[in-house]
Amino acid sequence: SDVRLLGPAEIRGLAAELGVRPTKQLGQNFVHDANTVRRIVAVSGVGPDDVVLEVGPGLGSLTLALLQTAGRVVAVEIDPVLAGRLPQTIEEFAPTRRDDFDVVTADAMSVLPAQLPVTPTALVANLPYNVAVPVLLHLMAHFPTIKTALVMVQAEVADRLAADPGSRIYGVPSVKARYFGAVKRAGAVGRNVFWPEPKIESGLVRIDRRDEFGTDADHRRATFTAIDAAFAQRRKTMRSALSGWAGGAPRAEELLRAADIDPGIRGEKLDVADFVRLAEAAGTSVA
Ligand code: SAM
Repeated sequence: SDVRLLGPAEIRGLAAELGVRPTKQLGQNFVHDANTVRRIVAVSGVGPDDVVLEVGPGLGSLTLALLQTAGRVVAVEIDPVLAGRLPQTIEEFAPTRRDDFDVVTADAMSVLPAQLPVTPTALVANLPYNVAVPVLLHLMAHFPTIKTALVMVQAEVADRLAADPGSRIYGVPSVKARYFGAVKRAGAVGRNVFWPEPKIESGLVRIDRRDEFGTDADHRRATFTAIDAAFAQRRKTMRSALSGWAGGAPRAEELLRAADIDPGIRGEKLDVADFVRLAEAAGTSVA
């Protein structure tokens, strides 16, 4: 390919040119290792037919690796200085692909399809750590055209996202991610591929969209509200954890039975389909 990737010297050079002082608040850790970005693109499975949404392109490390393989890339970056330099970086390192690249300066927590010049089919991102889960869930909810997502997040968050029911670390992010499709761990990434080096290890997570429960926003919100209520008090049984949500323990018990869930069970044992039935029972009001 005639696309060149960024190594340590290029990352240092770009950062110096822009006067970038990476901020923790924006989770700015830039990858300077070609093997890592190639691996991320490989496990994402994206190809020439894909329009990839990349969140937080930063200096362009992953963007360039994506342009080696994907049909098109649209990047959403919150930092205007980084976003502003990207077209020139693409021109320099991937001149033949410059027409297949767009960058939008926006907050990925709230970006909507109408703000993008193209319709993404996949999400690939090295997400800013402190907002990784809300950004991932926002994008899966509001961009139903995204069929696969491959994200790099902190290793612990990757474990939590991909945890199965019954696991000690299964919780709100795990259940909500499963609402959209199948969630899997897809590898580990060490600290030394970043500048500056983060204090924690990273991990890859892949979601393959299934939309088993449809794409209706009200249905999703009702289900997510039930999930939040169930896990707000992790140690409690569903009967008592959900009494506030249901409007009293007797009503909670009634809804749980209508959804075919043992009221004495704890939320960590339940799969997303259970929460869907519960929200549906509450919605259709079995009383
Ligand atoms: N993709 C680059 C790489 O792998 O080297 C940079 C990844 S860095 C971990 C996260 C990037 O996300 C930074 O460029 C940061 O400015 C950007 N960012 C942080 N918060 C964001 C948000 N809410 N919306 C969009 N981008 C954000």
